[in-house]
Amino acid sequence: MLFLTRWRRVFTPTTSVALRLYHMSSPASSVGQSAPKMADKQSLVESFPPPKELLTPLRVPQKTLLGPGPSNASPRVLAASALPLLGHLHPEFLQIMDDVKAGIQYAFQTKNQLTLAVSGTGHAAMEAAVVNMVEPGDVVLVAVHGLWGERCADMCSRNGAEVRTINKPIGQNFTLEDIQKGIEYHKPCMFFICHGESSAGVLQPLDGIGNICHKHDCLLLVDSVASLGGTPLYMDEQGIDILYSGAQKVLGAPPGASPISFSARARGKLARRKQKVPSFYFDMNLLSDYWGVGLQKGEPRKYHHTGPISSVYALREGLAKLAEEGLENCISRHQENALLLHQGLEAMGLELWVKDKAARLPTVTVVRVPEGVNWKDVASYIMNKYSIEISGGLGASAGKAWRIGLMGHNCTRDNVELVLRALKDALQHYGVRIQAKL
Ligand code: PMP
Repeated sequence: MLFLTRWRRVFTPTTSVALRLYHMSSPASSVGQSAPKMADKQSLVESFPPPKELLTPLRVPQKTLLGPGPSNASPRVLAASALPLLGHLHPEFLQIMDDVKAGIQYAFQTKNQLTLAVSGTGHAAMEAAVVNMVEPGDVVLVAVHGLWGERCADMCSRNGAEVRTINKPIGQNFTLEDIQKGIEYHKPCMFFICHGESSAGVLQPLDGIGNICHKHDCLLLVDSVASLGGTPLYMDEQGIDILYSGAQKVLGAPPGASPISFSARARGKLARRKQKVPSFYFDMNLLSDYWGVGLQKGEPRKYHHTGPISSVYALREGLAKLAEEGLENCISRHQENALLLHQGLEAMGLELWVKDKAARLPTVTVVRVPEGVNWKDVASYIMNKYSIEISGGLGASAGKAWRIGLMGHNCTRDNVELVLRALKDALQHYGVRIQAKL
């Protein structure tokens, strides 16, 4: 019979108190009756052993990510995310957050003070925009020409908005006239439009929309997750009130910290809210205190949540690469390589989803799957033989298209040639006749 009594001394500044931590006694003791016996604990552990899969080394294959995102991060960005952790309120980390803020202001071309990176992926930034701007009963007009309008409409309705939509078939964009009519008819307090509709590969021109919105006392919310850095975008100049993006596309950082910015007009709506922002995590009033927005120099930042330290390092380096290359050069590189890709695909006899050349998104190209070909077979062939990812369609393009992304570090002439060669090989493998020499 086992009788085991353990005592430990715990010292406080004034007293020394002896605490009995546990007392295992015979089965008859009152403590012993409810606590599992040593032998039982042993068998419990044996029946729930550590998972075998975690006792082998982590293996991650090298792939060329030429889908709609994530794109491959550069060695510099990957090295940044492997740097030692800092505390989320350490002065060195706060400086890195300030660098990120300056980088986003540059990438967005804005002087907005309320500019920061939301912890989370592009959806988190979309959600942050919506929860801060929308109050129950607000009329929000959403332009739907692919999946991202649908998603934003869903988020707005979850936040109690009265959601109205204007719609275009996937692959087409909206004219200023469409937008003006929609705003005059529905009288919304916010209008959403996606700049780079990655489900369709369509680029929505933004010039003039801000003016229309502001003339009708309406805020302009724009999704630039798939377009930022790959096509011209000027937040202040274009009168965009809320702009958000993602890290894993042109910025070439891992997903996890997403740029967002609010104009003075948008901050006015935030300040006039009758109800608290329904999300604590995304409340821009609280995040402002963590990111130092509006704080005097030397005023302490307030803990809100533990920032995703390594993701913020990586985003900082993605933004630094953009600053070093220069926004205009980065945009030209994306436009030039996209043009080469489009020409190569059309030379092979393939059809691009977006007919109007000016409306093609440089970062994500959507290609129609030829009659009788299974998109998945082709994508799998390319993955298995070349370790290249190209993706299928999304939303209305699902099953009917491939999506090829050329973004950030991956947006090179070599990759254009590589993916064209791989696609030609795959199509020939599945019996498609290709005339063009590549
Ligand atoms: N908007 C657009 C235009 C996108 O392409 C994406 C990602 N594909 C998102 C929003 C959502 O971003 P995430 O997947 O990073 O949440």
